Amino acid sequence: QSSHSAERQKLGPRLVKSAAYTYVRPDPFPKSELIGVSKAALHDLAIDPASVETDDFKDTVSGRGIITLNPGTEPKDDDIYPWAQCYGGYQFGSWAGQLGDGRAISLFEATNPSTNARYELQLKGAGKTPYSRFADGRAVLRSSIREFIVSEALHALKIPTTRALSLTVAPEARVRRETVEPGAIVARFAQSWLRLGTFDLARSRGDRALVRKLADYAALHIFGGWDQLPGASKSKEDADVLSSAPGLPKDQHEGSAEHQQNRYARLYRHVACLNARMVASWQAYAFTNGVLNTDNTSIMGLSIDFGPFAFLDNFDPNYTPNHDDHSNRYAYKNQPSIIWWNLVRLGEALGELIGAGDRVDDPEFVEKGVREDFAPELIKRAETLIDATGEEYRGVFMAEYKRLMTLRLGLKTSTEGDFKELYSELLDTLEALELDFNHTFRRLSSLTIAQIESEEQRKEMAGLFFHHEGLSPLAGDEQAARTRIANWLSKYRERVVGDWGAKSTAEEERLIGMKAVNPKFIPRSWVLDEIIERVEKKGEREVLERVMEMALNPFAESWGGDAAEEERWCGDVPRYQRAMQCSCSS
Ligand code: AMP
Ligand code: MG
Ligand code: MG
Repeated sequence: QSSHSAERQKLGPRLVKSAAYTYVRPDPFPKSELIGVSKAALHDLAIDPASVETDDFKDTVSGRGIITLNPGTEPKDDDIYPWAQCYGGYQFGSWAGQLGDGRAISLFEATNPSTNARYELQLKGAGKTPYSRFADGRAVLRSSIREFIVSEALHALKIPTTRALSLTVAPEARVRRETVEPGAIVARFAQSWLRLGTFDLARSRGDRALVRKLADYAALHIFGGWDQLPGASKSKEDADVLSSAPGLPKDQHEGSAEHQQNRYARLYRHVACLNARMVASWQAYAFTNGVLNTDNTSIMGLSIDFGPFAFLDNFDPNYTPNHDDHSNRYAYKNQPSIIWWNLVRLGEALGELIGAGDRVDDPEFVEKGVREDFAPELIKRAETLIDATGEEYRGVFMAEYKRLMTLRLGLKTSTEGDFKELYSELLDTLEALELDFNHTFRRLSSLTIAQIESEEQRKEMAGLFFHHEGLSPLAGDEQAARTRIANWLSKYRERVVGDWGAKSTAEEERLIGMKAVNPKFIPRSWVLDEIIERVEKKGEREVLERVMEMALNPFAESWGGDAAEEERWCGDVPRYQRAMQCSCSS
């Protein structure tokens, strides 16, 4: 092992050209201990829970169990040979060049036989790769606990995300960050780990063949075939040009050559729509990623790369969880436009392909690219398609956001006025009064119509949304605050009665439905900090299992553990631990 590490050390950071991945070998910790497994992940990967106790399982998820070849040997068909992906990225708006999996190593792909879902299993923190640059290829326990829990929490909240199977700790490993910390390995999985930055890198090098190969790979391997993309006309799939794809305004593209969409345009639109849905769910549950660089934006619209992420506590649209994000680029309110900014970069990477229209398979174009006579037409078509996709992105985002907010408010319908009178007014109120976003929805889920019938009652019930210690000093006068909340409750009541009628039988159904979408437990930064402290410093293990149980069942009322502790984790955020920030060092 040590001679291999030395060999890798000699190679150092390097640029990897014309390839999207490199074969690598995990460098397991000499001593490590499996301390957490997600039951939901076992289920989704079709792994027998009993096997978790076996050495096979423990060795695999810690990087020990992989039989690899000697360096320099070509892998054969039946060899298991791990790999690291090559990608680049725009970081904080600037091109950062080649990045790649500096500490993530994919072990294998596996298909769940009952769902046919295919997953790529990957270890994070299992040692250096050709993409480690000058870093150590390791992850510390602190950030690994955060990723382990939030991946599964987002999934349970029905937010598209990469997943986490297990957490292995190496208590004796000394990983140097701001201080020296224990190391850890998260075994994580996703249907694909391809990022927008994968395309950015090929484009930045002018590698047309690789861009095309990646796009074909995405369509065929990740999305299951060109005919699986929306807008596919199955009969003349290879004729390629579509003039009736749904989603884009009809009159804009029907018949006119510059709006013709080929299969790459449909791929682009599909990626945009998946990301629109993802970011809509972030906004609806107040999740912030914190480092939305293009290398951290998934081709499948999955939440990916959990560094300084956080859920909002008090509603503050300008909050960024990233301590180093001085310009607030990655603040909560900017996420939808940042994801679109990233998608425009993808549109540029795919520009030649989506702009080529029906010439995309023309052998001369495939080989040499755009000829001059054809360039202006191509550029115009690409630009038009990117713009139209932007409209579509906005539309899908709005529709999904509205769908989720309607559900969270327990309404059956959504009206023209809801956006302004219900959502905006609620959010403005929460912001002005410094109230907690997710607690508000959960508390609203136990409020009956009978409790907010009169103005007096509404003012009384307004207190339900206050923090335990009362209103923040910056929230102003308490009576004014009660009046403001009461006004909102009055409009809300009207909408509820309009949708459900005033019967008490419907009440029960409505509130059960609301509790099924409004979590009681959210893995907030302060809770994660407490878990980290207890696992790392006090050597507690069972606390991790309990929080994972809560993360996997966020809508429950209780979880069968220490009830007082569960309530505390679900309750008010301790005053000085609200809106915490995190540094990128992980
Ligand atoms: P991130 O900010 O997490 O998106 O990371 C940016 C890049 O730095 C990615 O290519 C990571 O793989 C790489 N990276 C971050 N931390 C490490 C580390 N400790 N060792 C090697 N590579 C790292
Ligand atoms: Mg990253
Ligand atoms: Mg990261």
